[in-house]
Amino acid sequence: MKKRFWLVGAMAYMLSFSISAQDATALKYGATITAADLEKHLRFIASDELAGRDTGTEGQKMAASYIKDHFEKWGLAGPVDGGYYQVFNLVSNSYPGVSLQVGKNKMQQNKDFIFVGDADMKKSQKAAIVFVGDGSKESLAKVDVKGKLAAVWAIGARTQNIVKDAMEAGAIGVIVTTMEDQTAFDRLAARYAAMTGGRLGFERPTVQEPAFMVSGTQMAAIFGATVDQVKAALGNPASVAPAQATFQVKKQTTTVPTENVLGYLEGTDKKEEVLVLSAHYDHVSPGADGRIIPGADDNGSGTVAVMEIAEAFALAAKDGIKPRRSVLFIALTAEEKGLLGSQYYVENPIFPLENTVNNLNIDMLGRIDNVYKDAEDTNYLYAIGSEMLSSHLKKILDYNNITYTGLNLDYRYDDPADPNRFYFRSDHYNFAKYNIPSIFFFSGLHNDYHTPEDTIDKIEFPLMTTRAQLIFHLAWDLANREKRNPVDGSNNRGDR
Ligand SMILES: [Zn+2]
Repeated sequence: MKKRFWLVGAMAYMLSFSISAQDATALKYGATITAADLEKHLRFIASDELAGRDTGTEGQKMAASYIKDHFEKWGLAGPVDGGYYQVFNLVSNSYPGVSLQVGKNKMQQNKDFIFVGDADMKKSQKAAIVFVGDGSKESLAKVDVKGKLAAVWAIGARTQNIVKDAMEAGAIGVIVTTMEDQTAFDRLAARYAAMTGGRLGFERPTVQEPAFMVSGTQMAAIFGATVDQVKAALGNPASVAPAQATFQVKKQTTTVPTENVLGYLEGTDKKEEVLVLSAHYDHVSPGADGRIIPGADDNGSGTVAVMEIAEAFALAAKDGIKPRRSVLFIALTAEEKGLLGSQYYVENPIFPLENTVNNLNIDMLGRIDNVYKDAEDTNYLYAIGSEMLSSHLKKILDYNNITYTGLNLDYRYDDPADPNRFYFRSDHYNFAKYNIPSIFFFSGLHNDYHTPEDTIDKIEFPLMTTRAQLIFHLAWDLANREKRNPVDGSNNRGDR
């Protein structure tokens, strides 16, 4: 029912714009995307040698070099001052020497407390710890926290919000309990203890905001009380006698250079306009147990699909058939650290964003997910975001799918209200923020997602080939059609 409905809509669109049924040239070059080539590239990208391509590691750089060589070999230009790498610095922040002493009790990091804030202190500091109940505005109004550490009992609350409110009320630091269950706290502490290196991000000034997370029993112990006594004092926090603390936070910052890899094919009569095809090639590895997480599907699959689509365009160009618009292929880094490679690109674009007509982003293309694993027809692909900014993009996608590939395009996640929030979770979103109509192509989640089991033997290469061919046909169409698709959508519905 639903399927027939979109088919009729796309056919009507196709007729009204009198687009020819099939383009033999597009078909010819689409067919150069083969399962064998995709597999050959993925054998290297997902190999143990690259150790999961974590941002800033040797493996990530080896992947970058492989992708660059491929772009170069097929005659794509390096658009970054003649080079293929867009290099930028991230920083890794860690807090190896945090001390917190309450009275005479020296507490242990990642056992008795977890450091969850930011700060860098030259010397240790003494301060009173005052109980402020649940940390609500009303509760904070009842206690003077100025120049003191605010102790907050806020089960289930978001730590950042609690810390922000207490600091705004004048506290110089925060001790917070958000989970009463000791086992859950111990598990989290163990995760922090196992984290080697720090969290990657763009460099930004240190915020003096020391925040310590403790378990329920630890919070009670700070005030020489029981958990029940602490809970009973939530309405009257001033009734709890303050404790004394000595604390210090030392921060360690390391610079981590990393790179996006760009290959560029200049267009003909509309070369000022640029179509961007992207996929992140970094992953997150090793896991907590030290095993390599190869990321064959996430996102080795998208990476090699972009390489093969680039090759198809390049082969056509070698035969003298260049696209009207320019096409920029980007293998993005640091997606797993918070979409940082794409953020860097849109903040430092090589081609003006107002001339960037669309972004087609691929993130996981090679598997049959948990939704479809028992389905009769597994020839599906999720497309996310195609209707957010332009009323045309989805129609053009449907048209190309009907004409060339006949996949079941599944739009179920194309909804900002979707609890998974996939629209906000991959690199296309950074392009969409700049009003560039974008589509995120995705084959869905499976049990091997972000585990050492995301291996190449589980990739469905024939299906993945058809999916990549669809994205090629869409790209070919977008690069060659007379008009770029209009930005007339209601924008990013549900923008955060
Ligand atoms: Zn991914």
